[in-house]
Amino acid sequence: MAESERATTRESYAFACLSCGYSWEQRFEVELRTGPEGERLVRYLVGGRPVPSPLTHPSCPNCGGHRVRVLPAGTVDAVRRGPGSGAP
Ligand SMILES: [Zn+2]
Repeated sequence: MAESERATTRESYAFACLSCGYSWEQRFEVELRTGPEGERLVRYLVGGRPVPSPLTHPSCPNCGGHRVRVLPAGTVDAVRRGPGSGAP
């Protein structure tokens, strides 16, 4: 029985603190639901616990500052992997 459509995806983000220079990566479970009015509800979870959206309220675990830059984690991965074996 589907009361409302629901989907959970995983997203990783990289963060860089502009105050102390600390950088880290965090993985989130993103729960997407459709509300009763057809609106889209998004919830972020870490280890099954709801957390505030990392995109609107990031804070640095090192210094507690809020001047944090959010970067897409995928780009870090691509850089780490380096160039492929070459396209034909
Ligand atoms: Zn910091």
